[in-house]
Amino acid sequence: MRSLYVKFVVMTIAIMIVSGILSFLLSNAYYQEKLKPYNDEKITKIALEAAEFAEEHPNLGLEDYLENLSAIGYQLYMVNDTGEEAYYGAPFRNKELSSNIKNDVLNGKIYHGILHFPQQSFVTGFFANELVNTVGVPLQISGNDYALFIRPDINLLFNEMHILFGWLLALTILLSIVLVLVSTKYLVKPISKLSAATKSLSKGNFNVELDTRRKDELGELSSSFLHMSGKLEQVDEMRKEFISNISHDIQSPLSNIKGYTNLLQNASLGSEEKAQYISVINGEITRLSTLTKQLLLLASLDRDEDIVKRKTFNISHQMKELVQNYQWMINEKNIMLSYSLPDLEISGDPSLLNTVWDNLLSNAIKYNKPFGSIDISIVKDKEAVNVTFEDTGIGIKSDESDRIFERFYRADVARSRTVEGTGLGLSIAAKIVKLHGGQIQVNSNENEGAVFTVRLPSH
Ligand code: ATP
Ligand code: MG
Repeated sequence: MRSLYVKFVVMTIAIMIVSGILSFLLSNAYYQEKLKPYNDEKITKIALEAAEFAEEHPNLGLEDYLENLSAIGYQLYMVNDTGEEAYYGAPFRNKELSSNIKNDVLNGKIYHGILHFPQQSFVTGFFANELVNTVGVPLQISGNDYALFIRPDINLLFNEMHILFGWLLALTILLSIVLVLVSTKYLVKPISKLSAATKSLSKGNFNVELDTRRKDELGELSSSFLHMSGKLEQVDEMRKEFISNISHDIQSPLSNIKGYTNLLQNASLGSEEKAQYISVINGEITRLSTLTKQLLLLASLDRDEDIVKRKTFNISHQMKELVQNYQWMINEKNIMLSYSLPDLEISGDPSLLNTVWDNLLSNAIKYNKPFGSIDISIVKDKEAVNVTFEDTGIGIKSDESDRIFERFYRADVARSRTVEGTGLGLSIAAKIVKLHGGQIQVNSNENEGAVFTVRLPSH
């Protein structure tokens, strides 16, 4: 496997090479199109001026003058109509030049060799030290015809520029490569760390450490990753706790059943004792059956959102029926129950919502005090229907009021009073209310009763 690091480095260097070639081609096109004609024009002007000066000062000595000109940075070639030739300044690398051209210039034409220098030579045409790469102008001194060919002595004029640009290019390439190597390490490092963190997470180790100080996408990714691993850890904890709770809640009725069936095997038992034991066993079986029903309901609530089968039904009828079912328990505890239930139709899943009311009412009874009271009310406002269960029971400590909606959570008071229950009721209720798009709230203080409110949106 080629690492991301190598790929990144190779890719960047490839990009550098490709863009180098492209920019060379582009600047060459620019030279050919714009700079070459300009250069030719410039040299032509210089050549014409030089010729004019020589013609106007015939006494100056042509040779000396041309020698001088070459010393300030030009390469010159001169030929006359008799074929006499002379070179001034740095020698041409290639001295070929057709006699037609020479004759044309002797006959008064101007030769634009720089402009017509072949395109293939790229920008290097500028540097080609050849006789054809010159500008030729005619020159007449004391009745004699001359042809003067001239080009700038690039070596003399631009030598240090050459070196400078050479260094510039070499240093740019070298430094770019070094910097790419270093910066890629910096870029790729957090990715390697993330990959290592993912591996350790998949092995169940949630204690991953990542640098989240970076202000870029990788920093964001790292903090999302940490957030996710935190959530996963929480879910894992919850799962473990859930399993241990279920195991405990199944184990204790089972060991009770086992204990009482052992007792029942004793032949000398009286029928009264027998009936008592059987009733205990029955109670435990009911507890187990309730627990499994609740777990099944929770599982299906967790699994899919489509479980809510909505229809319009009369909520006050439903509530009155429920109250009737609990009448004996209410009477037994000497509780006063009052309600205000306007005739109201709502949209929702009747069976699931019944589970919610059932749990809220059974809680209000279970956690009430003898001779206490319960008030149920349904109030409709603009956007929602509010269903309230108010009791005068033992109440809930403020630090526990959030936790009671957790699965299996039961306040210590509830446990110590040995009131029947699994602690799943409110978590199921909350889930159902949430699936209906509503909210469930509790308002309570220890020993001052509790008010549970379910708010269901009307639409
Ligand atoms: P289950 O409903 O599963 O049979 P449960 O009633 O104990 O068991 P929840 O209905 O989930 O479980 O309630 C969770 C806990 O919240 C209870 O154990 C109790 O401590 C507390 N609680 C709920 N309702 C009331 C209330 N009306 N007054 C005081 N405490 C309450
Ligand atoms: Mg309950």
